[in-house]
Amino acid sequence: MTHQNPPIQILKDKDLYVFDMDGTIYLGKIVFDFAIRFIENLRAAGKRVLFFTNNASRSTDVYLEKLTRLGFSPTADEIMSSADVTVAYLNTYHKDQTVYLIGTKQLESQFRAGGIRLATGKEGSVDVVVSSFDTELTYEKLDDGCRLIRNGAAYLCTHPDFNCPTDTGFMPDSGAIAALITASTGVTPRYLGKPYPEVVEMIERVTGIPRDKTCIFGDRLYTDIALGAKNGVTSILVLTGEGTYEEAMELPEGEKPAFIFPSLAEVDKAVFG
Ligand SMILES: [Mg+2]
Repeated sequence: MTHQNPPIQILKDKDLYVFDMDGTIYLGKIVFDFAIRFIENLRAAGKRVLFFTNNASRSTDVYLEKLTRLGFSPTADEIMSSADVTVAYLNTYHKDQTVYLIGTKQLESQFRAGGIRLATGKEGSVDVVVSSFDTELTYEKLDDGCRLIRNGAAYLCTHPDFNCPTDTGFMPDSGAIAALITASTGVTPRYLGKPYPEVVEMIERVTGIPRDKTCIFGDRLYTDIALGAKNGVTSILVLTGEGTYEEAMELPEGEKPAFIFPSLAEVDKAVFG
């Protein structure tokens, strides 16, 4: 079975172009110069661009600095992460409640800046436990989080990714930490981040651009492509990262990417000639 891309006019007519980062616009330390060119062409054509990462271990300031250093010339409002979605979710559904966070210091700062009331973990009970990609994880944090969940706290997880790609392979990510907490407590978290609908709702709210005028480029099927396919956003798989053509073809109809391209270089050529 081979995939036939729909007419390219569908992509040309979009107003907002959302990009996954690792595996899509760069890979580890390798920056894709064709991605920089495509994004420059989009901006020159008056299109909006948004960089969205599930990785909530670093603050959006760090991504702003990184993407600037790599040559993508982003503005602060072009960068969003699952941390932003989680803070917005907490402020909507758990307003002024106490939250115990299993996350990095950077994520803690972002939660505080977002007005979230953070607990120490030593309380008898809290309203919500949030776990994330915590590269500063300790047994004590896990123990406190599990105890608070057993004592009745609601359980959220910033993003479901099991592994984070690195230069030397994979490291355990947010979903793997959540799996441990679930094994201990029997409680499955509500996941935020890609592919969950809260991401598309937040993008619509923040940009003012409706989902049918938005498209998402990514390399991972169960986050980037699923986000689009399940939430009415045109999804484009690029084969510069994790997902393969064969894996995409095995997905059921309705979950497949709308377009498949070897890389953003071919998308740029198709859209801008
Ligand atoms: Mg990726």
